[in-house]
Amino acid sequence: MSIVHNKLEVRVNLAAIRANYRLLSGHGGRVIGVVKADAYGHGLCEVARALSQEGCETFAIGSVEEGAALRGFLRAEGIKARIVSLLGPVDSEDYPLLWEYEIIPFVGSFRQLETLAGHAARMGKGLPVSVKFDTGMARLGFTQDDLPRLVERLREAPLVRPVMASSHLATADDPASVDKVLAQAERFEAALAALAEAGFQVEANLANSAGILAHQKLRHQSQRGGIALYGANPFAGTAWEHLGRGLSPAMEVRTKIVAVHALKKGQSISYGGTYTAERDMRVAIVAAGYADAYSRGLSGKGAQMLIAGRRAPQVGRVCMQLCAADVTGIPDVRPGDWAVLLGGGGSLAISAEELAGWWGTISYEVFCLLGMNRRVFV
Ligand SMILES: *Cc1c(COP(=O)(O)O)cnc(C)c1O
Repeated sequence: MSIVHNKLEVRVNLAAIRANYRLLSGHGGRVIGVVKADAYGHGLCEVARALSQEGCETFAIGSVEEGAALRGFLRAEGIKARIVSLLGPVDSEDYPLLWEYEIIPFVGSFRQLETLAGHAARMGKGLPVSVKFDTGMARLGFTQDDLPRLVERLREAPLVRPVMASSHLATADDPASVDKVLAQAERFEAALAALAEAGFQVEANLANSAGILAHQKLRHQSQRGGIALYGANPFAGTAWEHLGRGLSPAMEVRTKIVAVHALKKGQSISYGGTYTAERDMRVAIVAAGYADAYSRGLSGKGAQMLIAGRRAPQVGRVCMQLCAADVTGIPDVRPGDWAVLLGGGGSLAISAEELAGWWGTISYEVFCLLGMNRRVFV
């Protein structure tokens, strides 16, 4: 973001991310740090450096371009690590970048495989890849029916070297869907067996954060940990909530209060006058709005923020750069004071899951969107 147009500050606690990496690693196997989408809004390069200090040797990014940016940073820092691209190459510009920036792409279609084989043959240079299988997500990857042709094509294109095999779980965070998770695991095993039988030795990975925390059976040589690294509990609100205890939230979002004034009984506030004071109140006008990714969808949903260490309900519609909070019961609130929108520490801290609940979304989206604001690393 070139022009700072707001007062919002995203504070990222890298020590928390490091602690979460240690916690995930404690479950066994190698943990691939998923840092796609700018490390879920926490800062791609800073997070990658922090994870490498904990021994993380493999990073998963989204687009090939994001991988190229990360490789540039790692080279400048003298950090040796593997980079795998979850999205794989999409258009023709992506292909040469894989070689130039040493990116291991997820390859999940014959189209990608043939294009890679063509590039590799022209350059006379091999490329390690991760073979991506669709075991139930129905998004990307080779299916069970593709296996015979896949093995054949891999044999015919020796420069495309499968070093990894991956698949992604659709329901690992849902205690009621264990059967679906196990069915995916079974299909993945079948795919691994087909590769092994054809003589391809690969590092397998299937589990995401929820899989690592809940499913011992899904353990392979490596797992791909994302959301838990950033301290959100993938099981929040479920019977498995306890499995995510011990994770430390890494993102705090705060902004400034720009005005404090009375709202008299019967007076309405903000666009549309959707909120009317039922008693004499005091309100704080807070410098956060939908231009800062503090969604207008939070209007009238019972959202809260932390002001002077107390919970203050958001009132009226969220505007482009402003919103309002009821601070009637909170003494001595002044312009220039902080309002905490996410995090805040202590027992009253606003968790990503709680904010996501008011917002009608999940912690992942809260992080990705709020993380687009100015960041400070603490
Ligand atoms: C995002 C992603 C992950 C990480 O998932 P979390 O639920 O955040 O742990 C793992 N694998 C793939 C393919 C992904 O896209």
